[in-house]
Amino acid sequence: MADIFAPGFKETPYWWEAAAPTQADKPVDLPANVDVAIVGGGYAGLSAALELRRQGVGALVIEAERIGFGASSRNGGAVSGGLKLAQGDMAKRMGDARAAAILEEAAQSLPYLEDLIQREGIECHYRRSGRFVGAHCRKVYDGMAARAEKLQALTGLRAYALPKERQHEEINTGYYAGGMVADATGSLHPALYHQGLAAAARRAGAVVVDSTRVSKVTRGEDGFTVATPRGTVRAREVLVATNGYTDKAAPWLKRRLIPVASYIIATEPLPPEQMKRLIPNGRMISDTNRVLHYYRPSPDGTRILFGGRASFRSITPREAAPTLHRFMCDIWPELKSTKITHAWTGNVAFTFDFTPHIAVNDGIHYAAGCQGSGVAMATWLGHQAALQIARRANRPSAFFGLDFPTMPTYSGNPWFLPIVGTAYRFQDWLDRRAG
Ligand SMILES: Cc1cc2nc3c(=O)[nH]c(=O)nc-3n(C[C@H](O)[C@H](O)[C@H](O)COP(=O)(O)OP(=O)(O)OC[C@H]3O[C@@H](n4cnc5c(N)ncnc54)[C@H](O)[C@@H]3O)c2cc1C
Repeated sequence: MADIFAPGFKETPYWWEAAAPTQADKPVDLPANVDVAIVGGGYAGLSAALELRRQGVGALVIEAERIGFGASSRNGGAVSGGLKLAQGDMAKRMGDARAAAILEEAAQSLPYLEDLIQREGIECHYRRSGRFVGAHCRKVYDGMAARAEKLQALTGLRAYALPKERQHEEINTGYYAGGMVADATGSLHPALYHQGLAAAARRAGAVVVDSTRVSKVTRGEDGFTVATPRGTVRAREVLVATNGYTDKAAPWLKRRLIPVASYIIATEPLPPEQMKRLIPNGRMISDTNRVLHYYRPSPDGTRILFGGRASFRSITPREAAPTLHRFMCDIWPELKSTKITHAWTGNVAFTFDFTPHIAVNDGIHYAAGCQGSGVAMATWLGHQAALQIARRANRPSAFFGLDFPTMPTYSGNPWFLPIVGTAYRFQDWLDRRAG
């Protein structure tokens, strides 16, 4: 196989060229007491801290690594207003009323994010770009018109099915059996957004501490003790926002999340006319494969960033890169000799009911489980959890108080992923073969 790696290839996110995770020059002191201690400094944790401060509540964010280490600076930057949830069969699982409330909140997460970015002046290349969702087979395409109608009713923004013979209006490929265009979606530079959110939380008065791993949270008579190798903090309330990086400090949550690695590659810069040919309207793209591909132009419109589940085993970004490159060339054979400059990975978190959750167990608050679609959703969950903690929510979030299932004997090690992943891939292949 031809060498796909450009000279100077890096196994770090392309996004980190503009906004790498940060570490304080001098360790920030841990306060002895705080109103709310937040474990995890991604979108959810920072958004919660910002909202708590806006409500006049003290907030301390404790991050195990550098600020921006987690999925929040590694993702694809496609911003969904509940598109993914709208595709599921939630009503069957939790009843019409709850499913409707969840979809309504998911749709609200997009304008909420847009307002926040504007209000806080976060420069992160946000754009209401819209998305094209490619149907991996004819049967799925046939259901897309109804799906588009549902999405349009929910968001009030245009969504429509695009037949195969017209899909070149959005993407220069014959790979899909048609698709759907949804306007209620946007795009941003995820690491710049994360950096801006951290700055906003700090400006509002939150204390953000890096390189400090919480090892245990213990409930006492009048609050919690949060233990770290740098000392303990006493907190009136605790919010755990560790998502796909949840460790033994939050065993209850760990048993309820399935961490899955996702991988992305960035191509070398391509000529403007080629970029225009590949994705004429510069939209975000994803597809309906069970093992999905998601991809986009870089914010400056010069590269393709192509993501997906290259493996269900633990492999390095360099090992994953040839598989993603092959997936990309299945869609655009003309990129066969295009080299890649970056490959990276990060963890998303799925739940056993495919639904994000805000929960309280033994007095500890949790916000997690964005099913790989958390730019808007993790921000929203953090915001809603904060309102709840500050007792300022007009009504409980629809994501709060749902049954949060686990499986007997599951302790957070998803040993079954390679088996499920292989079965999903096989199903996708069968679907595509059927046409
Ligand atoms: C490759 C990839 C592509 C993605 N693409 C998209 C996309 O295009 N669109 C989209 O909407 N979503 C996407 N996502 C999902 C999205 O990035 C996540 O849903 C979102 O960032 C989750 O934010 P979070 O704050 O919940 O978690 P994270 O950002 O993962 O933050 C959790 C933090 O908790 C910290 N932590 C863990 N344990 C401890 C501890 N004991 N003590 C202290 N800190 C701890 C971790 O170090 C980590 O920094 C993608 C994710 C990945 C990995």
